[in-house]
Amino acid sequence: MTSYSQLNTSQRILMGPGPSDAHPRVLQAMATPLIGHLDPEFVEIMDEVKSMVQQTFQTENYLTFVVSAPGSAGMETCLVNLLEPGDEALICIHGVFGGRMAEIADRCGAKVIKVEAPWGEPIDPEQVRLALETCTPKIVAIVHAETSTGVLQPLEEIGRMAHDAGALFMVDAVTSYCGVPLKVDEWGIDAIYSGTQKCLSAPPGLSPVSFSDRAVKALENRKTKVQSWFLDLSLVKNYWGGAKRAYHHTAPVSAVFALREALRIVLEEGLENRFIRHRENHELLATKLAGLGMEFLVDPDYRLPNLNAVRIPEGVDDALVRNRLLNDYNIEIGGGLGKFAGKVWRIGLMGESSTPNHVNMLVSALEEIIDPNLIHNGKASSVSTYG
Ligand SMILES: *Cc1c(COP(=O)(O)O)cnc(C)c1O
Repeated sequence: MTSYSQLNTSQRILMGPGPSDAHPRVLQAMATPLIGHLDPEFVEIMDEVKSMVQQTFQTENYLTFVVSAPGSAGMETCLVNLLEPGDEALICIHGVFGGRMAEIADRCGAKVIKVEAPWGEPIDPEQVRLALETCTPKIVAIVHAETSTGVLQPLEEIGRMAHDAGALFMVDAVTSYCGVPLKVDEWGIDAIYSGTQKCLSAPPGLSPVSFSDRAVKALENRKTKVQSWFLDLSLVKNYWGGAKRAYHHTAPVSAVFALREALRIVLEEGLENRFIRHRENHELLATKLAGLGMEFLVDPDYRLPNLNAVRIPEGVDDALVRNRLLNDYNIEIGGGLGKFAGKVWRIGLMGESSTPNHVNMLVSALEEIIDPNLIHNGKASSVSTYG
């Protein structure tokens, strides 16, 4: 018979695309003894979580709640509720996650119109304007912080265009939420979803979601049933906010405890302070990497401070460096996705992982691991070509 040892994982320093390091208070909250998911005490906790999600999304949307599943399920929740077969959906794609939205919209039976930008660049609002001349979409969807490329997408102009065209404006805020400014009401966002394991620094597995009144109206005007029972908001909304809490599914009680504590920490720090901290640690990293001769993928105007995509210096072995970081220094960073595999590293400075100490640990480790001839003055590899 196999005997299994007690769980004993390494003390990792999480600097990839998520999860990020969790605050000890969050881990402790998760170990709180269970209560029933319909216990009046838990109902009160859900109300508190809802209110804190509203504050952090900067919205007064009544339909604000948490999907009991990760960010991708938040994405799917927004799309399956807003789209019916035959609807047009304009999806902006500038990385992996825009592509995922298009895939889900297609499975909803929607006619997908794509507006694309090269990876590493934001979507150009002019392209959206041109596309809107050719269709009348029910939604315009876009990723705010494209974790696959490190691009921070400006939203306001595209949001206005969507409304002018009579469409709902849907935003993926999985990586931007609680890391960079995000104003759901002011920016006219009608449907938004996020995740807990990125700048919120809670464990993965939940997805905060919010719908504007316009989006709720679209939901009420559906002619067909939402094809997913679990994600159908006409059912879920009674669980997360109805006058009478009706059983829908068993909420992941411990994960909600952890989320509540993570939100409390965000509000104690203050959103503005938190955004400044993320920006300052990004600048510290950028300065230090420039000192090593390493380059960012994205133009400074569109750089995401919480997810830094940097080019792997020529001659440097991607897998070897990341393995040594993990095995010898306990540091996790992300590799490139899709066409950037082997070409970029994705360094997360998210939530609790956004500290000067994290930056210093990583940069010191990189200096020890990478052959100094391949970095430092950056052009070393090309110098050797000519020399
Ligand atoms: C991580 C991420 C997702 C998916 O979230 P999961 O929790 O992994 O399902 C979606 N969109 C973006 C931009 C992300 O960074």
